[in-house]
Amino acid sequence: MNLPWWHKPLDKLSSTEWEALCDGCGLCCLNKMEDIDTGEVYFSRVACRLLDINAACCGNYAQRADKIADCLNLREINREDFRWLPPSCAYRLRAENQPLRPWHYLICGDKNRIHQLCRSVRHFALSEREGYAIDDFLLFSLEEILGEEEDK
Ligand code: SF4
Ligand code: SF4
Repeated sequence: MNLPWWHKPLDKLSSTEWEALCDGCGLCCLNKMEDIDTGEVYFSRVACRLLDINAACCGNYAQRADKIADCLNLREINREDFRWLPPSCAYRLRAENQPLRPWHYLICGDKNRIHQLCRSVRHFALSEREGYAIDDFLLFSLEEILGEEEDK
């Protein structure tokens, strides 16, 4: 990783550096449930009503915290709450001192690669706005939809 800021701790990144770390997958905007017995987090195919599924990004990023009460503000939550992020999330990987995935645009140089590989919400998410219920579309694992990472 040749980025000059790569070795800076997450909480030392500037706003521009922070935003640049996002891979644009949109997976963090899928509605989730936690098994209160095990602490396991399960994703669903149903996305937050503000998510622009085709663009795989928030439809009102500037006001997201005011609009959606349980939107995760990654700069403010505890590191232990990063378990609510998909394992491939660049922020989670960075927090765990893991390398970014090969499809991340900072690695491959192509912001469309993640979509071409069907690793973004664009290819499978359903909007909460359309009335889909999370209970009907829970996933055992994100790999059910995304495929194994080793395949990419
Ligand atoms: S899961 Fe992480 S990398 Fe993907 S869109 Fe959300 S914040 Fe960005
Ligand atoms: S408010 Fe925006 S950033 Fe937050 S979960 Fe919804 S779509 Fe994602």
